[in-house]
Amino acid sequence: MFNNLLKIGLFSIAFISTAASADILNAKEQKQIMALKETALTSELSYNLIESLTTEVGHRLVGSEGDKKSITWALNKMKALGFDKVWTEDVTATYWHRGEVEAKVIAPYPHKVIAIALGGSVGTGDKGVKGKIAHFNTFKDLEAAADNSLNGKVVFISYRMERHINGKGYGPAVAARKNGAAVAAKKGASAIIIRSIGTDNNRLAHTGSVRYDEGGKAIPAASISNPDADMLLNQLKRSDDVEFFLKLTSHSDPKVVAKTANVIGELTGSEFPDEYVTLGAHLDSWDVGTGAVDDGIGVGMMMATVHHIAQLPVKPKRSIRVILFAAEEIGLVGAKTYVEKRNGDMAGHVIGAEWDFGVGPIYEMKTGVGKKSLPALYDFAKYLEPLGVSVNKTNTAKAQSDMSLMSQAGMPSVNFAPDGSLYFDYHHTENDTLDKVDAKALKHNTAIYTMFAYFAAQSGVNFSQ
Ligand SMILES: [Zn+2]
Repeated sequence: MFNNLLKIGLFSIAFISTAASADILNAKEQKQIMALKETALTSELSYNLIESLTTEVGHRLVGSEGDKKSITWALNKMKALGFDKVWTEDVTATYWHRGEVEAKVIAPYPHKVIAIALGGSVGTGDKGVKGKIAHFNTFKDLEAAADNSLNGKVVFISYRMERHINGKGYGPAVAARKNGAAVAAKKGASAIIIRSIGTDNNRLAHTGSVRYDEGGKAIPAASISNPDADMLLNQLKRSDDVEFFLKLTSHSDPKVVAKTANVIGELTGSEFPDEYVTLGAHLDSWDVGTGAVDDGIGVGMMMATVHHIAQLPVKPKRSIRVILFAAEEIGLVGAKTYVEKRNGDMAGHVIGAEWDFGVGPIYEMKTGVGKKSLPALYDFAKYLEPLGVSVNKTNTAKAQSDMSLMSQAGMPSVNFAPDGSLYFDYHHTENDTLDKVDAKALKHNTAIYTMFAYFAAQSGVNFSQ
């Protein structure tokens, strides 16, 4: 495995079989990476950070007290954890107020409905909105409806998200939440309710952002819990005239600018301080639950990763930069600001990986790097193999969430895929709390990010080649 005879320059490695992976790290570095793995596998730090964030700060809705507090919290923690440089970069966004919700079936069979406003939704006014349900199985079916066919109706999309280990059920489901309101409004609807984008059967509704067309009509948008969606379908089986009532007191004030910030911390590289291995997570959350899973886990893991590496007697050659993005939930606003501030130039950002998905253990690494550097990452993969992590060789990865914008701007990236089977049970609900964090998987995952950050920072591999 560690055949020194194969230790040749990177340029040559590109031309040998990837199966015979050469050692990129020298013997001392190999010891170091194994020691870091042990440290991370036995440390409680990631968990303790999530516990601290969710207890001392709580939810972190953009513009809220929690959002402001979390910035101070992150700065202080990073300093205490041994980051060399810590700073903030201002981000501005629109502050949205959730307000109250009331939802019910009026006829034929009156029922209270558990609902939640979608993030960014307009309100209904004090009197609420009353209308007949226009039911669609899918977002596509809604798109196919004729113009003006939905005048005065309350649209209901009942598509149920499927559970998959890699979360692939989210994509087909989430269009209803993001774009349903804009499409329904064009066809004359006065409000929209959707089945929650979630895989659970709890009587809790899942929030998440809604987008309106610029210049288009904005109609109130809410999601309802899975059991309530089932109940509504049962009513629709019995009657074509199901009457619904929705009241939302949500509102945004475009004149009030929410000031928030990306929080950035760096461990300075000992040889190439201007080359950054970047680790991302988002600091904001929705205002339901405490944002423990989304994305407290990412915050805890990235900060712990740097702390573990900061304990080494000599810092790795390249810098390791943790970016805790602001305002992810309302449309990757912090990430957009980060890229714009650098005029879209990701020079110096040698490779990046984000965490914004899953509670289970990582089982796969997917690369998105230059072809010549692939053998180096396959060499890295041998450290992950004993942890049950395989390599997806399509080399088509874009970094998750925020960092997808940095990938698009040219930053090489790696995606670590965890078991995400349970993630969408809790996602964007009151159930996103600390008890959902899988402490064992968290150690496993932190160990992988720690090894990755060390490898990328110490090896000096050019991942864009
Ligand atoms: Zn998230």
